[in-house]
Amino acid sequence: MNAKKKDPIKSLGIYCHVPFCVKKCAYCDFCSFSGQNSQTIADYFKALQQEIRSFALARFNSDVGDLAFPVVDTIYFGGGTPSSVSPEYIQKTMAVINEVFTVSEAAEKTIEINPGTLSASKAESYKAAGFNRVSVGLQVWQDELLKMLGRVHQQSDFIQCMEILRSVGFNNISVDVMYGLPGQKLEDLTATLAELMAFSPTHLSCYSLILEAGTPMTNLVKAGRLVLPSEDLEREMHWTIDRFLKAHGYSHYEISSYCRPGYESRHNLKYWEMVPYLGFGLGASGFYNGVRSVNTSDLKEYGRLIAAGKSPAKYEPPMSEGELMSEWMFLGLRKLNGIDDADFKKQFNRSFFAIYQEAIDSLLKAELLVQDGSVLRLTPKGQDFENQVSLAFF
Ligand code: SF4
Repeated sequence: MNAKKKDPIKSLGIYCHVPFCVKKCAYCDFCSFSGQNSQTIADYFKALQQEIRSFALARFNSDVGDLAFPVVDTIYFGGGTPSSVSPEYIQKTMAVINEVFTVSEAAEKTIEINPGTLSASKAESYKAAGFNRVSVGLQVWQDELLKMLGRVHQQSDFIQCMEILRSVGFNNISVDVMYGLPGQKLEDLTATLAELMAFSPTHLSCYSLILEAGTPMTNLVKAGRLVLPSEDLEREMHWTIDRFLKAHGYSHYEISSYCRPGYESRHNLKYWEMVPYLGFGLGASGFYNGVRSVNTSDLKEYGRLIAAGKSPAKYEPPMSEGELMSEWMFLGLRKLNGIDDADFKKQFNRSFFAIYQEAIDSLLKAELLVQDGSVLRLTPKGQDFENQVSLAFF
């Protein structure tokens, strides 16, 4: 079966969700499950591959489908924990993508890895499948904090994981770091960053803990058994990361993201620049032709829908121009180099200074934004109050 059409003209991202984990972390409300049996996992990947084929066939291989076939230039396998399942499932899914889509030779192909679940054979298999970028969920260096988070790995697993990745030839490695954790001291964070520098990651994603309703960690915080750092300390942690990583040659290119020159996450940039991407798998989101979609996050329903030849996606109504402009503004402002009115004009034929004059004036006055010719960008204060900036464009 081959759904490919000739004459590719557009760029496109593909996200594939792997909703399985060895164990649920204490803070996690992502679409992920632990303890699934091997048949459930096998059935899931069969359905996932079917979803990818069906979508490509419906969209690109019929007279009613899109006229031109877009070039896929980023692929991202996230979760969940993609590295928790047999690598054959990942390889096969990648093969289906290559079969039914036109994938650029220079595509960025990322897989998320939990350090407690990697082996040399898995890493080799990812390499053979064409992955050229790995995102490793370290979170913190200290074993006692990893335990508190409910992570399955320890510091020693991370060290081994990085050795395996290097030995197999992965050079483009991103590492996730968390801060603002119960019991985490500023010294714990600086030690995490300092230890990480020995591994020379090309990219770091640094997230402040968000307490999600119903998670064990939220319940422990509510019960007073875990205590979050103060807001001031949480902000101090953010700025400590910023100073440390900049001093070590990283640039801060998005609120939560730092990279060595040229190593921005090309896939994630699509989210902030509203470049189309398709989401496959349980709970996956997509943005295509100005329409946002989200797949069901009910594992059984997902399997049923695919088996019945139906789409697992719920499509939102096409976004109005006003909605597209608002999202373009607040998503784009997550990037530290800001947004350029010239780009906005190319997209919408109008100036954002005219449309959002009042909001922009008040954000400039509050020193949350700074203007540099046709460019608007967040100030340091704007990074601290990024929600306020986003709300101003609704
Ligand atoms: S590994 Fe990630 S997706 Fe899985 S439970 Fe932990 S935080 Fe959630």
